[in-house]
Amino acid sequence: MIKKIIGIGSALLLAAAGVSAQEQVLNLYSARHYSTDEALYTNFTKATGIKINRVDADDAGILARLKAEGTASPADVILLVDAARLYKGEVDGLFQPVKSKLLDDAIPAQFRAKPTAEGTPWFGFSTRARVIVYDKLKVKRDDVDTYDELADPKNKGKICIRSGSHPYNLSLFGAVTEHLGEQKAEAWLKGVVANLARDPVGGDVDQIKAVGAGECQIAVSNTYYIARLLRSNNPEEKALMERVGIVFPNQNSWGTHVNIAGGAVAKNAKNPANAVKFLEYLAGAEAQNYFANGNNEWPVAKGVKVSNPALRAMSGGEFKSETIPLAAVGANQVKVQQMLDRVGFK
Ligand code: FE
Repeated sequence: MIKKIIGIGSALLLAAAGVSAQEQVLNLYSARHYSTDEALYTNFTKATGIKINRVDADDAGILARLKAEGTASPADVILLVDAARLYKGEVDGLFQPVKSKLLDDAIPAQFRAKPTAEGTPWFGFSTRARVIVYDKLKVKRDDVDTYDELADPKNKGKICIRSGSHPYNLSLFGAVTEHLGEQKAEAWLKGVVANLARDPVGGDVDQIKAVGAGECQIAVSNTYYIARLLRSNNPEEKALMERVGIVFPNQNSWGTHVNIAGGAVAKNAKNPANAVKFLEYLAGAEAQNYFANGNNEWPVAKGVKVSNPALRAMSGGEFKSETIPLAAVGANQVKVQQMLDRVGFK
Protein backbone atom coordinates (compact mmCIF):
# COMPACT_ATOMS: atom_id res chain seq x y z
CA MET A 1 0.00 0.00 0.00
CA ILE A 2 2.73 2.43 1.01
CA LYS A 3 4.71 1.51 -2.04
CA LYS A 4 1.71 2.20 -4.23
CA ILE A 5 1.24 5.65 -2.77
CA ILE A 6 4.90 6.48 -3.27
CA GLY A 7 4.55 5.25 -6.81
CA ILE A 8 1.66 7.55 -7.54
CA GLY A 9 3.44 10.43 -5.82
CA SER A 10 6.54 10.13 -7.93
CA ALA A 11 4.48 9.74 -11.09
CA LEU A 12 2.71 12.99 -10.23
CA LEU A 13 6.03 14.67 -9.50
CA LEU A 14 7.38 13.56 -12.85
CA ALA A 15 4.25 14.73 -14.59
CA ALA A 16 4.47 18.09 -12.88
CA ALA A 17 8.16 18.43 -13.77
CA GLY A 18 7.34 17.46 -17.34
CA VAL A 19 4.69 20.13 -17.59
CA SER A 20 6.92 22.91 -16.34
CA ALA A 21 9.85 21.88 -18.51
CA GLN A 22 7.94 21.36 -21.73
CA GLU A 23 4.91 23.55 -21.59
CA GLN A 24 5.00 26.90 -19.88
CA VAL A 25 1.56 28.39 -19.67
CA LEU A 26 -0.06 31.66 -18.75
CA ASN A 27 -3.76 31.93 -17.95
CA LEU A 28 -4.99 35.31 -19.07
CA TYR A 29 -8.34 36.92 -18.26
CA SER A 30 -8.79 39.75 -20.75
CA ALA A 31 -11.31 42.54 -21.15
CA ARG A 32 -9.50 43.94 -24.18
CA HIS A 33 -12.21 43.62 -26.81
CA TYR A 34 -10.05 44.31 -29.84
CA SER A 35 -9.70 41.64 -32.51
CA THR A 36 -6.30 42.98 -33.52
CA ASP A 37 -4.85 41.94 -30.13
CA GLU A 38 -4.24 38.41 -31.38
CA ALA A 39 -0.82 39.50 -32.65
CA LEU A 40 0.17 40.60 -29.13
CA TYR A 41 -0.44 37.14 -27.74
CA THR A 42 1.15 35.13 -30.55
CA ASN A 43 4.25 37.35 -30.49
CA PHE A 44 4.61 36.82 -26.74
CA THR A 45 4.39 33.04 -27.17
CA LYS A 46 6.91 33.18 -30.02
CA ALA A 47 9.34 35.20 -27.91
CA THR A 48 9.04 33.22 -24.68
CA GLY A 49 7.61 29.80 -25.50
CA ILE A 50 4.86 30.48 -22.94
CA LYS A 51 1.47 29.37 -24.18
CA ILE A 52 -1.44 31.69 -23.39
CA ASN A 53 -4.86 30.36 -22.41
CA ARG A 54 -7.27 33.23 -22.70
CA VAL A 55 -10.66 33.89 -21.14
CA ASP A 56 -12.53 36.89 -22.56
CA ALA A 57 -15.08 38.87 -20.55
CA ASP A 58 -15.75 42.50 -19.73
CA ASP A 59 -14.13 44.31 -16.80
CA ALA A 60 -16.98 43.70 -14.37
CA GLY A 61 -17.32 40.06 -15.46
CA ILE A 62 -13.64 39.39 -14.87
CA LEU A 63 -13.63 40.97 -11.41
CA ALA A 64 -16.75 38.99 -10.45
CA ARG A 65 -15.22 35.78 -11.73
CA LEU A 66 -11.97 36.30 -9.81
CA LYS A 67 -13.97 36.90 -6.64
CA ALA A 68 -16.13 33.81 -7.16
CA GLU A 69 -13.17 31.56 -7.96
CA GLY A 70 -11.13 32.69 -4.95
CA THR A 71 -8.01 30.68 -4.25
CA ALA A 72 -9.04 28.10 -6.85
CA SER A 73 -8.81 30.67 -9.64
CA PRO A 74 -6.59 29.58 -12.52
CA ALA A 75 -6.02 33.21 -13.56
CA ASP A 76 -2.42 34.38 -13.68
CA VAL A 77 -2.74 37.75 -15.33
CA ILE A 78 -5.61 40.18 -15.83
CA LEU A 79 -6.08 42.81 -18.53
CA LEU A 80 -8.76 45.46 -17.98
CA VAL A 81 -9.68 48.51 -20.04
CA ASP A 82 -10.32 51.12 -17.41
CA ALA A 83 -8.42 52.69 -14.52
CA ALA A 84 -11.40 52.69 -12.16
CA ARG A 85 -11.86 48.95 -12.61
CA LEU A 86 -8.17 48.29 -12.05
CA TYR A 87 -8.45 50.35 -8.88
CA LYS A 88 -11.50 48.32 -7.84
CA GLY A 89 -9.63 45.06 -8.37
CA GLU A 90 -6.82 46.39 -6.19
CA VAL A 91 -9.17 47.48 -3.40
CA ASP A 92 -10.98 44.13 -3.49
CA GLY A 93 -7.66 42.33 -3.01
CA LEU A 94 -7.80 40.48 -6.32
CA PHE A 95 -4.26 41.33 -7.44
CA GLN A 96 -0.81 40.63 -6.08
CA PRO A 97 1.59 43.56 -6.08
CA VAL A 98 4.52 43.27 -8.47
CA LYS A 99 8.10 44.29 -7.87
CA SER A 100 9.67 44.93 -11.26
CA LYS A 101 12.27 47.57 -11.88
CA LEU A 102 11.60 47.26 -15.59
CA LEU A 103 7.90 48.10 -15.14
CA ASP A 104 8.52 50.87 -12.62
CA ASP A 105 11.06 52.47 -14.95
CA ALA A 106 8.95 52.09 -18.11
CA ILE A 107 5.50 53.16 -16.88
CA PRO A 108 5.05 56.74 -15.61
CA ALA A 109 3.69 56.93 -12.05
CA GLN A 110 0.52 58.67 -13.30
CA PHE A 111 -0.47 55.50 -15.15
CA ARG A 112 0.05 52.90 -12.44
CA ALA A 113 -1.22 52.13 -8.96
CA LYS A 114 0.35 53.67 -5.91
CA PRO A 115 3.17 51.33 -4.93
CA THR A 116 3.07 49.66 -1.51
CA ALA A 117 5.94 47.99 0.35
CA GLU A 118 4.99 44.76 -1.47
CA GLY A 119 5.09 46.29 -4.92
CA THR A 120 2.74 47.91 -7.44
CA PRO A 121 -0.77 46.39 -7.78
CA TRP A 122 -1.46 47.38 -11.43
CA PHE A 123 0.07 49.05 -14.46
CA GLY A 124 -1.34 50.92 -17.45
CA PHE A 125 0.04 49.89 -20.84
CA SER A 126 -1.83 52.14 -23.25
CA THR A 127 -3.83 55.34 -23.02
CA ARG A 128 -6.95 56.59 -24.72
CA ALA A 129 -8.35 60.08 -24.50
CA ARG A 130 -12.04 60.79 -23.91
CA VAL A 131 -12.90 63.54 -26.37
CA ILE A 132 -15.80 65.52 -27.80
CA VAL A 133 -17.21 64.94 -31.30
CA TYR A 134 -19.55 67.54 -32.82
CA ASP A 135 -21.57 68.28 -35.91
CA LYS A 136 -19.52 70.84 -37.81
CA LEU A 137 -22.61 72.26 -39.54
CA LYS A 138 -24.56 72.96 -36.37
CA VAL A 139 -22.06 73.50 -33.56
CA LYS A 140 -19.21 75.95 -33.20
CA ARG A 141 -15.98 74.36 -32.08
CA ASP A 142 -15.65 77.16 -29.58
CA ASP A 143 -18.80 75.96 -27.83
CA VAL A 144 -17.49 72.47 -27.17
CA ASP A 145 -13.78 72.84 -26.52
CA THR A 146 -14.09 72.17 -22.79
CA TYR A 147 -15.80 69.49 -20.73
CA ASP A 148 -17.22 72.38 -18.69
CA GLU A 149 -19.33 73.46 -21.69
CA LEU A 150 -21.08 70.09 -21.86
CA ALA A 151 -23.09 71.44 -18.91
CA ASP A 152 -23.65 74.91 -20.38
CA PRO A 153 -27.31 75.74 -21.20
CA LYS A 154 -26.20 76.81 -24.71
CA ASN A 155 -25.80 73.09 -25.47
CA LYS A 156 -29.28 72.11 -24.27
CA GLY A 157 -30.80 69.13 -26.07
CA LYS A 158 -27.64 68.50 -28.10
CA ILE A 159 -25.61 65.88 -26.24
CA CYS A 160 -25.43 62.11 -26.73
CA ILE A 161 -23.36 60.07 -24.30
CA ARG A 162 -23.34 56.45 -23.18
CA SER A 163 -24.52 55.44 -19.71
CA GLY A 164 -23.12 57.54 -16.88
CA SER A 165 -22.26 54.37 -14.96
CA HIS A 166 -20.12 52.93 -17.72
CA PRO A 167 -16.49 52.75 -16.53
CA TYR A 168 -15.29 55.16 -19.25
CA ASN A 169 -17.69 57.80 -17.93
CA LEU A 170 -17.15 56.96 -14.26
CA SER A 171 -13.46 57.62 -14.84
CA LEU A 172 -14.08 60.83 -16.80
CA PHE A 173 -16.41 62.06 -14.06
CA GLY A 174 -13.92 60.92 -11.40
CA ALA A 175 -11.32 63.07 -13.13
CA VAL A 176 -13.69 66.05 -13.34
CA THR A 177 -14.34 65.60 -9.60
CA GLU A 178 -10.60 65.63 -8.97
CA HIS A 179 -10.22 68.85 -10.98
CA LEU A 180 -13.32 70.78 -9.83
CA GLY A 181 -14.05 69.40 -6.38
CA GLU A 182 -17.13 67.42 -5.44
CA GLN A 183 -19.68 70.22 -5.26
CA LYS A 184 -18.86 71.78 -8.63
CA ALA A 185 -18.59 68.35 -10.21
CA GLU A 186 -22.11 67.44 -9.11
CA ALA A 187 -23.48 70.73 -10.45
CA TRP A 188 -21.66 69.99 -13.70
CA LEU A 189 -23.19 66.50 -13.92
CA LYS A 190 -26.61 67.99 -13.35
CA GLY A 191 -26.00 70.40 -16.22
CA VAL A 192 -24.90 67.59 -18.54
CA VAL A 193 -28.07 65.60 -17.78
CA ALA A 194 -30.15 68.70 -18.54
CA ASN A 195 -28.43 68.98 -21.94
CA LEU A 196 -28.95 65.38 -23.10
CA ALA A 197 -30.66 64.89 -26.46
CA ARG A 198 -31.89 61.46 -25.33
CA ASP A 199 -31.49 58.93 -22.54
CA PRO A 200 -28.08 57.24 -22.69
CA VAL A 201 -28.10 54.17 -24.95
CA GLY A 202 -25.39 52.19 -26.77
CA GLY A 203 -21.61 52.55 -26.85
CA ASP A 204 -19.32 55.37 -27.94
CA VAL A 205 -19.62 54.65 -31.67
CA ASP A 206 -23.41 54.75 -31.39
CA GLN A 207 -23.19 58.30 -30.03
CA ILE A 208 -21.06 59.45 -32.98
CA LYS A 209 -23.47 57.77 -35.40
CA ALA A 210 -26.37 59.52 -33.67
CA VAL A 211 -24.66 62.82 -34.53
CA GLY A 212 -24.53 61.66 -38.14
CA ALA A 213 -28.20 60.73 -38.00
CA GLY A 214 -29.11 64.18 -36.66
CA GLU A 215 -30.37 62.82 -33.33
CA CYS A 216 -27.84 64.93 -31.48
CA GLN A 217 -25.08 67.37 -32.27
CA ILE A 218 -22.45 66.61 -29.66
CA ALA A 219 -21.07 63.22 -28.56
CA VAL A 220 -18.41 61.95 -26.16
CA SER A 221 -16.13 59.12 -27.25
CA ASN A 222 -12.86 57.34 -26.62
CA THR A 223 -10.27 58.14 -29.25
CA TYR A 224 -9.60 54.61 -30.55
CA TYR A 225 -13.22 54.31 -31.73
CA ILE A 226 -12.81 57.59 -33.62
CA ALA A 227 -9.48 56.48 -35.11
CA ARG A 228 -11.11 53.24 -36.26
CA LEU A 229 -13.85 55.24 -38.02
CA LEU A 230 -11.23 57.57 -39.54
CA ARG A 231 -9.42 54.55 -40.99
CA SER A 232 -12.61 52.95 -42.28
CA ASN A 233 -13.19 52.31 -45.98
CA ASN A 234 -16.95 52.15 -45.52
CA PRO A 235 -18.46 55.08 -47.49
CA GLU A 236 -21.07 55.83 -44.82
CA GLU A 237 -18.45 55.99 -42.09
CA LYS A 238 -16.22 58.12 -44.31
CA ALA A 239 -19.09 60.57 -44.83
CA LEU A 240 -19.82 60.57 -41.10
CA MET A 241 -16.23 61.45 -40.26
CA GLU A 242 -16.27 64.26 -42.86
CA ARG A 243 -19.24 65.74 -41.10
CA VAL A 244 -17.95 65.74 -37.53
CA GLY A 245 -15.25 67.69 -35.79
CA ILE A 246 -13.11 66.30 -32.98
CA VAL A 247 -12.02 68.31 -29.96
CA PHE A 248 -9.47 67.42 -27.33
CA PRO A 249 -11.11 69.35 -24.49
CA ASN A 250 -9.55 71.66 -21.92
CA GLN A 251 -6.33 72.38 -23.80
CA ASN A 252 -6.16 75.76 -22.07
CA SER A 253 -6.84 74.42 -18.58
CA TRP A 254 -6.28 71.02 -17.00
CA GLY A 255 -5.96 69.04 -20.22
CA THR A 256 -7.91 66.23 -21.86
CA HIS A 257 -8.96 63.27 -19.72
CA VAL A 258 -7.02 60.10 -20.51
CA ASN A 259 -7.81 56.62 -19.30
CA ILE A 260 -5.74 53.44 -19.56
CA ALA A 261 -5.95 49.83 -20.48
CA GLY A 262 -3.74 47.96 -18.08
CA GLY A 263 -2.86 44.77 -16.32
CA ALA A 264 -2.17 43.08 -13.01
CA VAL A 265 -1.03 39.74 -11.64
CA ALA A 266 -3.85 37.72 -10.11
CA LYS A 267 -3.78 37.25 -6.33
CA ASN A 268 -3.81 33.46 -6.62
CA ALA A 269 -1.68 33.13 -9.77
CA LYS A 270 -0.19 29.66 -10.24
CA ASN A 271 2.35 31.02 -12.73
CA PRO A 272 3.26 34.42 -11.24
CA ALA A 273 6.69 34.57 -12.89
CA ASN A 274 5.11 34.11 -16.33
CA ALA A 275 2.54 36.75 -15.46
CA VAL A 276 5.26 39.30 -14.65
CA LYS A 277 7.08 38.33 -17.84
CA PHE A 278 3.90 39.06 -19.79
CA LEU A 279 3.40 42.46 -18.17
CA GLU A 280 7.05 43.30 -18.90
CA TYR A 281 6.51 42.24 -22.49
CA LEU A 282 3.55 44.65 -22.73
CA ALA A 283 5.83 47.50 -21.60
CA GLY A 284 8.40 46.69 -24.31
CA ALA A 285 8.80 48.49 -27.63
CA GLU A 286 7.13 45.79 -29.75
CA ALA A 287 3.90 45.64 -27.73
CA GLN A 288 3.86 49.39 -27.17
CA ASN A 289 4.06 50.00 -30.92
CA TYR A 290 1.31 47.51 -31.42
CA PHE A 291 -1.02 49.42 -29.08
CA ALA A 292 -0.52 52.52 -31.22
CA ASN A 293 -0.82 50.90 -34.62
CA GLY A 294 -3.06 47.90 -33.95
CA ASN A 295 -5.67 49.47 -31.71
CA ASN A 296 -5.07 53.20 -32.14
CA GLU A 297 -4.07 53.82 -28.54
CA TRP A 298 -1.12 55.82 -27.25
CA PRO A 299 1.79 53.93 -25.71
CA VAL A 300 2.51 54.69 -22.05
CA ALA A 301 6.14 53.62 -21.99
CA LYS A 302 8.61 56.46 -22.04
CA GLY A 303 10.37 57.10 -25.33
CA VAL A 304 8.12 55.07 -27.67
CA LYS A 305 7.39 57.03 -30.88
CA VAL A 306 4.00 56.77 -32.58
CA SER A 307 3.60 56.62 -36.34
CA ASN A 308 -0.16 56.19 -36.62
CA PRO A 309 -1.66 58.71 -39.08
CA ALA A 310 -5.17 58.41 -37.59
CA LEU A 311 -3.88 59.32 -34.12
CA ARG A 312 -2.01 62.27 -35.61
CA ALA A 313 -4.98 63.41 -37.71
CA MET A 314 -7.22 63.38 -34.65
CA SER A 315 -5.05 65.30 -32.23
CA GLY A 316 -2.93 67.37 -34.59
CA GLY A 317 0.09 65.51 -33.30
CA GLU A 318 0.44 66.51 -29.70
CA PHE A 319 -2.19 67.37 -27.15
CA LYS A 320 -2.20 68.36 -23.53
CA SER A 321 -3.49 65.58 -21.31
CA GLU A 322 -4.38 65.83 -17.65
CA THR A 323 -1.66 64.91 -15.20
CA ILE A 324 -3.60 63.66 -12.18
CA PRO A 325 -2.74 60.09 -11.14
CA LEU A 326 -5.35 57.60 -12.36
CA ALA A 327 -5.26 55.99 -8.93
CA ALA A 328 -6.93 59.17 -7.63
CA VAL A 329 -9.54 58.98 -10.37
CA GLY A 330 -10.26 55.38 -9.36
CA ALA A 331 -10.65 56.42 -5.74
CA ASN A 332 -13.50 58.80 -6.71
CA GLN A 333 -15.72 56.07 -8.19
CA VAL A 334 -18.08 55.51 -5.29
CA LYS A 335 -18.58 59.25 -4.85
CA VAL A 336 -19.29 59.67 -8.55
CA GLN A 337 -21.86 56.87 -8.63
CA GLN A 338 -23.68 58.53 -5.73
CA MET A 339 -23.69 61.86 -7.57
CA LEU A 340 -25.05 60.18 -10.70
CA ASP A 341 -27.90 58.72 -8.68
CA ARG A 342 -28.67 62.10 -7.13
CA VAL A 343 -28.73 64.00 -10.45
CA GLY A 344 -30.59 61.22 -12.29
CA PHE A 345 -27.83 60.41 -14.79
CA LYS A 346 -28.79 56.98 -16.14
FE1 FE B 1 -13.92 50.17 -25.49
